[in-house]
Amino acid sequence: NRQQYIRNFAIIAHIDHGKSTLADRIMEMTSTVSDRESSAQQLDDLAVEKAHGVTVKSKAVRNYYTDANGDEYQFNLIDTPGHVDFNYEVSRSLSATDGVLLVVDATKGVQAQTVANFRLAKEANLTIIPIVNKIDNNMADVDGTINQILDLDADFADQEILKISAKSGLGVDKVLEAIRDRIPAPRGDDHAPLKALVFDSKFDPYKGVVAQVRIFDGQLTSQTSQLFFANQLSATNKEIGIFAPEMLTLSTLSAGDVGYVVTGVKDSNAIKIGDTITNANHPTQEALPGYQAVEPMVYAGLYPKNSDYKDLKIAIEKLALNDAAFQYEPEQSEALGMGFRGGFLGIFHLQIIRERLLAEFGLEVLTTMPNSTFKLTLKNQDEPLYVENPIQFPDWSKIAQIEEPYVHAKMTLPNEMLNDIMRLAEGRRGTLEDLDTLGSMVVATYLMPISEIAYDFFNELKSVSHGFATLSTEVAEYDYSDLVKLEIAIDYANIDALTLITHRLKAERIAQNMVIKLRDLVPRKLQVMPVQAIVEGRVIARENIPPLRKVAAKGSTVSKKQQQLRRSGQAKSNIELPQAVFDALLDLG
Ligand code: GDP
Ligand code: MG
Repeated sequence: NRQQYIRNFAIIAHIDHGKSTLADRIMEMTSTVSDRESSAQQLDDLAVEKAHGVTVKSKAVRNYYTDANGDEYQFNLIDTPGHVDFNYEVSRSLSATDGVLLVVDATKGVQAQTVANFRLAKEANLTIIPIVNKIDNNMADVDGTINQILDLDADFADQEILKISAKSGLGVDKVLEAIRDRIPAPRGDDHAPLKALVFDSKFDPYKGVVAQVRIFDGQLTSQTSQLFFANQLSATNKEIGIFAPEMLTLSTLSAGDVGYVVTGVKDSNAIKIGDTITNANHPTQEALPGYQAVEPMVYAGLYPKNSDYKDLKIAIEKLALNDAAFQYEPEQSEALGMGFRGGFLGIFHLQIIRERLLAEFGLEVLTTMPNSTFKLTLKNQDEPLYVENPIQFPDWSKIAQIEEPYVHAKMTLPNEMLNDIMRLAEGRRGTLEDLDTLGSMVVATYLMPISEIAYDFFNELKSVSHGFATLSTEVAEYDYSDLVKLEIAIDYANIDALTLITHRLKAERIAQNMVIKLRDLVPRKLQVMPVQAIVEGRVIARENIPPLRKVAAKGSTVSKKQQQLRRSGQAKSNIELPQAVFDALLDLG
């Protein structure tokens, strides 16, 4: 049986524990890449892939392992993303595998991401091969690390934990044997209707949407009409193949295989990660579990800084093709002009989009403060109204109730940090839902408004825990919150881009912080300019931006009429808002 010789697996680890090094070593010890090529890290270096002519970042690389008996195995190494904003992607990548290598650095021991990843693998019912890495290092505490691993799971036995140096290659042969012996071979039905799981998809300018798939049942042949289950879209695929690690064209992918499909689809939003592909002529009746729509968690304005609106529009359209989780629509601000409202998975995702706009298009963008969606119930109206931009709030008197989205925020951290983390979460309006101990680590789950997480929560979590805590979030329901609209006026002109919606109890502190930061960061003018924070028509904080030169301030050039206009809120602002203002406001927590 062909599938007996296939193993589909991933490597999971806390950052820097040696995932990439082990991946390289595995590729080097199987027949994937030559020694010379493996000197650069293969799996996560886009530049290296470019040099190889691979246009799509590979998530799964096929390796051939020949064991001591001379039997040849297909080892498909599936890459998982590393960052917490992308935890849902980790789960999806894992659903394409049958087992994982859980790598722990012997000089550091089990850490938060070790536990978080372990739990994802456990929830997916995968075979887990525990590995202690860096045993060559003088600082290695191999026994201590083994004990921590045993604490993770009662099912682990001492003798099944492998001890290796991914760097020197010591013990890696045993890893290859363990992959062969412990990870179950796929058991798909070659003759059943096609069921292929899409676990990644990328947009390629020449090929269109390229999906990475795991075939669970049946066969995927090239140039056949395929059906995408989620939206019942059909298309004829243009090409199928594997990464080895370059794109290698094949005519068939069969049950148990992992590979890519050039879908023949041009619109990347049409292909959903987690979707099932089947044969349009012999469709399966039932999709694989796994498809879940990705909803943005936070929204922020994106405005051109060193370009015009048109250039930014083109760049944003291209980015969105490549990143299905990123959403956008045009928006206009009095203070900032024409721009876009982007929807993101989290703050880290927002940062990535900013970096990509700069790296790939040379565009600097100004990003405004992020917020979540608000669900408004209006007086005399049954249908709720969803608002993603504080500027678009209807008149406050028309609102009967405001709700905001909550998440279950699961934090994994060392025991001794629990008190600090609890204080942090409670300060962010979190309520404890669940507390679970795993050896020296605890997993605390809080119900928390997304808006509290959006404001720099992750950075604070990292700083409070010295980088030891991880965070993963799962969307919960909307719930009532006592929210108010906080508006900022500079020189009596309302600055729409600075409007935010916040909790009543936090409004004052945030307002104080904002006016102080604005006083220091807004470019000065000839006259004194007051900065006011206004809630429900009341000024709750105020600072003065000093004039450029004292002399000029005396002979103020502002006419009576202009002053009146300003005071009545009808003045148009000509204040420049540098990105530094928004950056500073972001961590006002
Ligand atoms: P990743 O973040 O999990 O992908 O970790 P990397 O594979 O990039 O490794 C992080 C660092 O640990 C690098 O500097 C590696 O050279 C080093 N490293 C990885 N494996 C070993 C090992 O077995 N022994 C020693 N001494 N260093 C290692
Ligand atoms: Mg790495």
